[in-house]
Amino acid sequence: MAKQAINKIIDGKLIASQITDEIKKELSLHNNIKPGLALILVGNNPASEIYVKMKEKKCAELGYHSIVNRLSEKITEAELLAHIRSYNNSSKIHGILIQLPLPKHINEMNVLEAVDYRKDVDGFHPINAGRLMIGEKCFTPCTPAGIHELLKRYNVITSGKNAVVIGRSNIVGKPIANILLQKSKGANCTVTVAHSATAGISEFTKKADIIIAAIGKPEFLKANMIKKGVVIIDVGINRVDDPDSKKGYKVVGDVDFNECSKKASLITPVPGGVGPMTIAMLMKNTLDSAMKRIYS
Ligand code: NAP
Repeated sequence: MAKQAINKIIDGKLIASQITDEIKKELSLHNNIKPGLALILVGNNPASEIYVKMKEKKCAELGYHSIVNRLSEKITEAELLAHIRSYNNSSKIHGILIQLPLPKHINEMNVLEAVDYRKDVDGFHPINAGRLMIGEKCFTPCTPAGIHELLKRYNVITSGKNAVVIGRSNIVGKPIANILLQKSKGANCTVTVAHSATAGISEFTKKADIIIAAIGKPEFLKANMIKKGVVIIDVGINRVDDPDSKKGYKVVGDVDFNECSKKASLITPVPGGVGPMTIAMLMKNTLDSAMKRIYS
């Protein structure tokens, strides 16, 4: 019984480390290439600090050239755009990442559009978002790219399957829905996108062969909302109180793992599922940019 449970797990840590190894191998074959990533952090958001540190550490492990530009919460939009322009013009920088969220006085879209789309390794520039939608080569946002990679590497049959994406954010829900809709490997699904105004969400999730949960609500998806054999990808990262833990909290996903893992054929855990894939795909996008694989 225990073994059966283990076989159901989609191990994001394992796949992320395989991708890291593949990047190292490629770099050893092209020792004239040194990918460069500029990470821009505005303000002191503690979660953003942690994410940026993790990305910096991964760059160091891979021998990338990385710059972390920590900017004051009070920076003006014009000053921030000037920093971005300097990285757009730097031959050592192949990828630019603006850690979100930005302070309220800065227009996020102006900032994302200021990044040269050929260095937009987060895939948030409208040119990359548009190209993703029409199935053209582009930088794909890292979390959806990681989800796609997990489905492919676990040989999940996707063609002709019903995929339900819960959540329609620009960084997860919409891009993964667009990926799964493409007529390509690891995709070709019939896609439904649900959101907070969706009436009778269970009627959709019960028919799903694949569910991508990107909601931001702890353990939202319950066993009575799914059918047996479904493949579940849980994107959620939610902190909930846990008096039994030393920290006083634990991290859970958007899926009730204990309940749903009993019915699912494959499921990602939280942590250790989608999370590690996001950074791995950022590193892959930065390598692809340095190798001029997307825009030459
Ligand atoms: P977001 O921008 O807040 O979007 C949440 C989406 O869920 C929205 O489209 C919202 O609908 C929908 N939603 C909210 N309540 C709902 C409900 N009751 N029923 C159906 N849909 C509902 O969040 P996000 O940035 O996409 O992130 C989602 C989760 O993934 C968060 O927990 C986040 O921390 C996590 N995340 C993880 C990674 C990773 O690397 N693992 C990366 C990014 C995000 P409306 O559009 O109608 O408001």
